[in-house]
Amino acid sequence: MYISRTLSNHARGINNRIMKFNTKVIHGGQIKEKGYGAVMPPIYQTSTYVQSEPGVHQGYEYSRTQNPTRHALENSIASLENAKYGLAFSSGLSAIDAILKLFKPGDEIISTHDLYGGSYRLFNKIYKKYGLKFIFEDLKNLEKVEKLITSKTKLVWVETPTNPMINVIDIAAISEICKKNKILLGVDNTFSTPYLQRPLDLGADIVMHSGTKYLAGHSDVIIGLIALNDEKIAENLFFIQNSSGAICGPMDAFLTLRGIKTLHVRMDRHCSNGEKVFEFLNQCKKVDKIYWPGLESHPNHLVAKRQMKKFGGMISFTFVNNMYSDVVNFTKKLKVFTLAESLGGVESLVNHPATMTHASMPKKDRERNGITESLIRLSVGIEDSIDLVNDLDKAIN
Ligand SMILES: *Cc1c(COP(=O)(O)O)cnc(C)c1O
Repeated sequence: MYISRTLSNHARGINNRIMKFNTKVIHGGQIKEKGYGAVMPPIYQTSTYVQSEPGVHQGYEYSRTQNPTRHALENSIASLENAKYGLAFSSGLSAIDAILKLFKPGDEIISTHDLYGGSYRLFNKIYKKYGLKFIFEDLKNLEKVEKLITSKTKLVWVETPTNPMINVIDIAAISEICKKNKILLGVDNTFSTPYLQRPLDLGADIVMHSGTKYLAGHSDVIIGLIALNDEKIAENLFFIQNSSGAICGPMDAFLTLRGIKTLHVRMDRHCSNGEKVFEFLNQCKKVDKIYWPGLESHPNHLVAKRQMKKFGGMISFTFVNNMYSDVVNFTKKLKVFTLAESLGGVESLVNHPATMTHASMPKKDRERNGITESLIRLSVGIEDSIDLVNDLDKAIN
């Protein structure tokens, strides 16, 4: 009973197909505040709501279950991903955690092999012991995916572009395989954002974001988001969200909504700065490999061109000779790029996956995936591209 009430509270897909994306980032799924005419959704910093009679209320009873600021954000992500339902969580990982709780011991999940280190840790160190089976594979190889599917396979989990190797997976092609075998397809869309790529339109069943990154966009909040169309799975996820309770607070929901309002403008700049940084790295003698979907020799450049609007601001590269000491010298000399984990904020960041974001991945798995000693991952921000290129130039040369 209570679950469907939760669902009916959601302004499902408001104006979804009418507005253009750049308008939806500002208005998508938003309801005008009637109390005082506030233009921004207020931060409803409350745990509970008055009832006029026992059980009679205005759709909100307790903030773990429903909160108006969170709803505004949940409707926003639903609108941006062309979805019927949106859900917001306390972090990207708690959003993935909720998705994993849809499954039961014995179920098998096939996942991209070079995925976000925290997702890898959640799969292998937490959920494996509850009986879920994970198979990590290079999902660029579609024949391999088909071969891995058994009667127990329930989910294919894809990150694209992947972290940190910037591999691109063909969402539409994997979705066809999943549909044929009646398996769900989930996509971690953190690196692309719905501005560059909308997985549900390409056939995925569930899309998830670490809103911490590009969506909130200012490195000041940890938040997770899910969007989907299937009513039954949505009901299950709302049930899990309320039962496990990993919801985001109203202030974090507000900050993320505020960030989303400039998503399109920021992404355009992340992408054009990314292009300039690529052009610089590409002529640098000390740089060995470059991983960026816009590179014509990137193994899935054509897939990226088809499924992404632009190529994004995430670029990884290695140094000639593959020496860790080069990494240390490089990161010490940078003045504009900041050495820090995370990505997707307005400021440019540099990360060394082997010792930072992917340190929790066993060395042999890291090496198999190409995460070498000198692999560097750049999150290109929206500063002036001349300063970014000069900074890299001074630190490398
Ligand atoms: C950061 C990140 C996550 C985890 O999100 P948190 O908000 O840090 O919990 C998951 N997937 C990707 C691709 C990420 O970059």
